Amino acid sequence: MKIKENVILAPFTTFKVGGSADFYCRPENYEEIREAILFAKDNGLKTFKLGGGSNVLISENGFRGLVIHLASFDKIKIEDCKIITGPSLAVDTLAEKAAINSLSGLEFAGGLPGSIGGAVYMNARAYGDSFENIVESLGIIKSDGNLKELSVEELNYSYKSSSLMNTDNIIIKIVLKLKPGLKKDILNKTQTNKEKRINNGQFIFPNAGCIFKNNYDIGIPSGKIIDELGLRGTSIGGAMVFEKHGNFIVNKGNATADDIRELVEFVKKTVLEKKSITLEEEIRYVGF
Ligand SMILES: Cc1cc2nc3c(=O)[nH]c(=O)nc-3n(C[C@H](O)[C@H](O)[C@H](O)COP(=O)(O)OP(=O)(O)OC[C@H]3O[C@@H](n4cnc5c(N)ncnc54)[C@H](O)[C@@H]3O)c2cc1C
Repeated sequence: MKIKENVILAPFTTFKVGGSADFYCRPENYEEIREAILFAKDNGLKTFKLGGGSNVLISENGFRGLVIHLASFDKIKIEDCKIITGPSLAVDTLAEKAAINSLSGLEFAGGLPGSIGGAVYMNARAYGDSFENIVESLGIIKSDGNLKELSVEELNYSYKSSSLMNTDNIIIKIVLKLKPGLKKDILNKTQTNKEKRINNGQFIFPNAGCIFKNNYDIGIPSGKIIDELGLRGTSIGGAMVFEKHGNFIVNKGNATADDIRELVEFVKKTVLEKKSITLEEEIRYVGF
């Protein structure tokens, strides 16, 4: 496998910002993932696993290490009510495939950006449903290069969190357990959820979805807290708090990663000062 040097990462992210990775590879099979892990070990490099790039903010200075881009693992198999897939399959495509096969459980993910690997890693959720409700097990490659199966119980799923976060494990197989249903209804619900996202303007400007997690103890969504402070439309450089959704920061076209990071910090500081609430980022920082 070719390991490239100085690869610009911005095009691989939905924010469309970020500098270069010192080293970058796009493995196409399990052996190549092992090769990448070994390369990093031999050269004392940190690694970062990149999926669809829809939940990351990559620094302007890029990443000092090896980016392992999981972009070539999109094989899918459907066995009765189970879907077995590689991590690179787009969540939206997966939701559509489930619907076409009369399988219910993925309707909430209609139109959700990113790959299924990233979605099960961080327990993505929408419309009151989340991946923890449909994951049966995952296949991972551990940092020693060995394969392991993890049951859903071992993933310790909770709100936007799993036991995989902050580990070096690479998800290479996802097994989802769905339920049989009426194709027409499933297709309809999946499509409606996708259209809601389009109508909310989520795809007008490059962004990474919600910046902050919701704190259910407070009971007010983070977006609403930001709205109440009149922060919609606030800009730093090319980054702006989205006018249609307070929890989105968008790249108006010429934003840098630093603009976005600065605006995130400004929103956090304002919310803390004015409401005594500490917002916690949902997006993952890379290379900061
Ligand atoms: C317009 C828009 C709307 C969004 N709406 C929502 C929403 O409603 N709900 C929601 O939860 N999210 C939302 N998001 C965020 C994003 O879609 C999800 O978090 C998505 O699941 C991330 O997947 P990804 O492949 O893009 O992950 P990436 O951004 O590539 O990575 C995210 C994290 O997952 C890790 N990762 C990715 N693939 C693997 C793998 N194979 N093995 C190990 N680790 C891996 C990465 O290392 C990183 O830490 C939205 C994003 C956008 C742009």
